[in-house]
Amino acid sequence: MTRAYLALGGNVGDVKQAFRTALATLRAQDQVCVLQESPIYRTPPWGVTDQPDFLNMVAEIETDLSAHDLLDLCLEIERASGRVREQRWGPRIIDLDVITYGDETIADERLSVPHPHAHERAFVLAPLADIAPDEMIAGKSVREWLAQIDTSGLHRL
Ligand code: ATP
Ligand code: CA
Ligand code: CA
Repeated sequence: MTRAYLALGGNVGDVKQAFRTALATLRAQDQVCVLQESPIYRTPPWGVTDQPDFLNMVAEIETDLSAHDLLDLCLEIERASGRVREQRWGPRIIDLDVITYGDETIADERLSVPHPHAHERAFVLAPLADIAPDEMIAGKSVREWLAQIDTSGLHRL
């Protein structure tokens, strides 16, 4: 079994319900065990700022899926929730990213873990620090990354 962290985000429609459905789908998989769920945060949009605020959270799982099969499961959950891919970093009902997969480093055309932007995103670091402050990303702990990033505008619900 491999421990992994998934980041959930969304800013269109009933995002909390989309999170609940996503987590229920994860829990229903024989090959996935959901160990922890972070609080939900309301966060300003990142990258493309002219769009509604997001809700974000992080889940800790254990899985015997491969990293690529875990990615496919995340993409399938997004599809099932009705996500349509339009603008990069644009509005979406739900986004599921693999933040870390054990201590593996993967960088191919489909999957990069640790997620290349995780350590520069307060909306990932803040909920991740609530459940896994000692998790290492890009040579530093989540706690250390969070301490040096701007978290103004983040509100824990
Ligand atoms: P970002 O990855 O910067 O957060 P995004 O989540 O908006 O942007 P998407 O459109 O959801 O980007 O995903 C585009 C592709 O990114 C996916 O089809 C997937 O193949 C690839 N990808 C690479 N690494 C990861 C990862 N760690 N988690 C999820 N998707 C990834
Ligand atoms: Ca994302
Ligand atoms: Ca994504």
